[in-house]
Amino acid sequence: MSSLLRPPALCRLTGARHMRSVSVRASEESCSSSSPLFLSFEDPRAFRVKSMWELVRALTVFRLCSAPVLVNNCAQMMGLSRRILGKRCFSLFLRPSVYAQFVAGETEVEISASMQKMSSLGLHPMLAVPIEEDLGESTGEKRYEENLCSMLECVRMSHSNGWSQNPMMQLKITALVRPELCVKLTSLLKTHQYDLSFLVRAMDGEEVSFTGLSENENTHLLLGLRRLSKVGEASVDKVRVLVDAEYTYMNPALSLITLAMMMKFNQRSAWIWNTYQCYLKDSRALLVEAIETSSSQGFCLGVKLVRGAYMDKERKLAEKELRSDPIHESWERTNDSYNECMELMLKLISESPEHFMMIIATHNEESVRRAVTRMEELGLHRDGNRVCFGQLLGMCDHVSLTLAQHGFSVYKSVPYGSVDDTLPYLVRRAQENRTVLQGIRKERDLLRQELHRRLKLIKVT
Ligand SMILES: Cc1cc2nc3c(=O)[nH]c(=O)nc-3n(C[C@H](O)[C@H](O)[C@H](O)COP(=O)(O)OP(=O)(O)OC[C@H]3O[C@@H](n4cnc5c(N)ncnc54)[C@H](O)[C@@H]3O)c2cc1C
Repeated sequence: MSSLLRPPALCRLTGARHMRSVSVRASEESCSSSSPLFLSFEDPRAFRVKSMWELVRALTVFRLCSAPVLVNNCAQMMGLSRRILGKRCFSLFLRPSVYAQFVAGETEVEISASMQKMSSLGLHPMLAVPIEEDLGESTGEKRYEENLCSMLECVRMSHSNGWSQNPMMQLKITALVRPELCVKLTSLLKTHQYDLSFLVRAMDGEEVSFTGLSENENTHLLLGLRRLSKVGEASVDKVRVLVDAEYTYMNPALSLITLAMMMKFNQRSAWIWNTYQCYLKDSRALLVEAIETSSSQGFCLGVKLVRGAYMDKERKLAEKELRSDPIHESWERTNDSYNECMELMLKLISESPEHFMMIIATHNEESVRRAVTRMEELGLHRDGNRVCFGQLLGMCDHVSLTLAQHGFSVYKSVPYGSVDDTLPYLVRRAQENRTVLQGIRKERDLLRQELHRRLKLIKVT
C-alpha cells in the first residue's frame, strides 16, 4: 500500500488541521431540545472535524455504495474493478479507500491512533474482531483457540490504551463455538431445558454432560464455554462485552450461552450484553423473557437493540423450509417493534438504573430522536452511561457526531485487521446494511456542503 495514497492512521478520523474544531460542541441554540435545530441532523458543521481527504473519500465510497448492483455483488465487483482499473490503481486507491472508510487499521499503533482521534471527537470506540463463521465454514479446535487469543487481545486493547472511558467490544459466539453445534443446541432447546447454572458450572471447568449431544459435541461445547468464560474473566470491571445476535437457526443457543455468561459475570454490573433483533416477530417476547430471567436470577442485563441484519437470508430460508417468516412483514412493523422494545427498556432503566443498561444501535434518525425525547421525559442523563447510542464506523457520522456534540454517549463499532482479513467482513456488512448504505443521500449532501464551504474558503484566501 502506498504511503502517499494511504493517509497516516492519525488522519483517518479527522484531519490534524481541524483538530481545534474537534472540541466544538453544538451551539447553545441547537443544544436545547425545544429548538427546531435540535437533532435535525441537517447541520453540515458536524463534518468540520473531517479532513479534506476524508470528505472526498467518504463521498467517493458512498457514491459507489449507492448503486445497488455494486453492493449486492460487492465481492464480484471488487474483482471486476481490479480488472478494469488495473491491479495497481485498484490496490493503490480503491481498496485502501474502502478499507480506510470502514476499518480502524491493522497494527496496534494504527488502531490506537484512530481510536485516540475518535475519542477526541467525543465518540467511544467499540472494537469488533472481524471473525465469524456460518454453517459449512467451521474450522478445527486449534483455530478456535487462536480466535480466543484474538478476543483476549481485543479486551486488552479496548481497556489498556486509555482512549476510551467505559470501553465496549463486540463478540460473536460463533468465533469460539462451532456454528453447527449452536444449530444442534437450538433444535435440542425445543424439547430440552438446560439450566443456566449448569452452563455456568461448565464454564467453571466442571465436566458436565449435556443431554442430546454426542461425546465429541459435548467436548467441543465444554471447550467453547471455557473459552467464553476466559473472555468474561478478562473483561469484568474493564470492558463491556456485547454479544452479537446472528441467525434464528442458532440464536436460541447463542442467547442461552450469553445469559449463562451474564449469570456468571453480571452480578454487580452488566459486563456481558445480549443483542435483540427487532425485525423478529418474537423480539419483544424474547426481551421480556430475558428481563424476567435477569430479575429472578439476580443478575444485571445489558441490551443491544438492533433492527437486524440478516433479513433476506432469513426470509429465503423460511420460504425454502416452508416455515412461516420469522421477520415482521414490513419495515413499519419492525419500527413499531423497535419502538416498543426501546420504550420497555427506557422505562426499566429509569426505574432500576443499577440493574439495566441499553445501547440503541441504529442509524435511523427517527429512532434516535424518539429515544432522546423519551430519555428527557424519563429524566435519564445524556451521558449517564445507562443508555448509549451505536453506529458502524464510517456510516452515518452526521448522526454520531451530532449526538456526541450534544453530550450523548455514542459508540462506533470498529472492525480492525489487515485488508485481506477485513474485506470479507466488510462485504457481509455492506450487504446486510445495504438499505442504510443506499439511503445515505443526506450524509452525502452534508459532506458535499462541507466540501463546497472549504473550497470556497480556499478560493477566498
Ligand atoms: C453497533 C451495532 C451493532 C450491531 N449488531 C448487530 C447484531 O448483533 N446483529 C444483527 O443482526 N445486526 C446488528 N447490527 C446491524 C443492524 O441490525 C443494522 O445496522 C440494521 O439492521 C440497520 O438498521 P437501522 O436501524 O440502522 O436502519 P433502518 O434503515 O431504519 O432499518 C433497516 C432495517 O430495517 C429492517 N427492515 C427493512 N425492510 C424491512 C421489511 N420490509 N420488513 C421488515 N423489516 C425490514 C431490517 O432489519 C433492515 O436492516 C448492528 C449495528 C450496529 C450499529
